[in-house]
Amino acid sequence: MTHHPATRVVAMGRPDKVAGQPVSPPIELSSTYVTAPLGAAVPIYGRIDNASWLGLETVIAELERAGTGGGCVSFASGMAAVSAVMNQLAYGGLLLMPASVYNTTAELAAAHHDRGRLTVRLLDEVTPQTVQAALAEHVLPSSDPRGLEPTAMVWVESPSNPMLTVTDIAGCAAAATQAGAWLVVDNTFATPLLQQPLTMGADVVVHSVTKYLSGHSDLVLGAVVTNKPELREVFVAHRRLHGAIPGPFEAWLALRGIRTLDVRFERAQANATMLAERAATHPSVTRVRYPGSGAMLSIEVARKGADDEDSLTQAAEDVVNGLQVWTAATSLGGVESLAERRRRHSNEPTVVPVNLIRLSVGIEHVDDLWADLEQALDQLA
Ligand SMILES: *Cc1c(COP(=O)(O)O)cnc(C)c1O
Repeated sequence: MTHHPATRVVAMGRPDKVAGQPVSPPIELSSTYVTAPLGAAVPIYGRIDNASWLGLETVIAELERAGTGGGCVSFASGMAAVSAVMNQLAYGGLLLMPASVYNTTAELAAAHHDRGRLTVRLLDEVTPQTVQAALAEHVLPSSDPRGLEPTAMVWVESPSNPMLTVTDIAGCAAAATQAGAWLVVDNTFATPLLQQPLTMGADVVVHSVTKYLSGHSDLVLGAVVTNKPELREVFVAHRRLHGAIPGPFEAWLALRGIRTLDVRFERAQANATMLAERAATHPSVTRVRYPGSGAMLSIEVARKGADDEDSLTQAAEDVVNGLQVWTAATSLGGVESLAERRRRHSNEPTVVPVNLIRLSVGIEHVDDLWADLEQALDQLA
């Protein structure tokens, strides 16, 4: 019997129910393990194995429906996970990405491109048609005989950060697969509660566990999830070789955090839905981006009649700085509500409007969140 996600986040990844076993796993702080007789498979060294990773990996793999052969491989950060995936592309391979994607993912892709390792092509819109056309246009390097190194990869963030664009994952997966490309989905914003891209044909899912999965803005961690046993092995080897391993304490804390994912997300999502409706009625708000589910939304703000770039920038800065219940900070997915004007960052894609404020809606009372946002927006009037 398959249980609901609310049950699985609580029940999975615990020690066996045997008399005397702890109900919650301990933190394993050891860099090395006692040598086993020849041939026996036991943990050897802390860069290769750590029991504190396993509970978290089990829960994430379960939520993402990675299946029995697949699994989750945790990394030191979301970017370590993103980097591990991008690194699998064959030298000279093609990376298709939306023009608006998480800024550091975009920066890493650009760095690969500038050094001649990969060809990165940015798409204004990622649809099955644009993916199919772009893949057909490029001459790809000959593929790896083991079939593990793809020569092309399609990168999807859905909903995207911070434009909240939604992509047809199943359609893009079909277009990618037909051309022998991998379809990678950064599922950080949706979380596996809203969508499981592996069940829609994606090859790999990446997560910034820093965000909703851990949920308390107190650690940095990442994960790669796949339903293909051979790919899981590729990422286990990558982690061992490149060394971006999760700290045992962070992994333990993330497992503690993920236990409440379902209740946190339910509240945050209900708050976000109400805030999106209320924000749309405010005269200082020129646009609300909310895909209808999830707990992230972006608003664009302006002072009446002042629509040059400097005025728009200042209007958004003033709103963020006028907040008291919300915190002006980057990152997202924690229990506390955060607001940020994304174009503050020099690496933010310029397709993001200067007056866009990204709101990560937390689990506070929605009336307090709205009252605070409303008074900050009123200041523009
Ligand atoms: C934060 C984020 C990342 C990077 O994760 P870190 O844990 O900060 O390294 C990747 N993708 C998205 C969509 C993110 O929001």
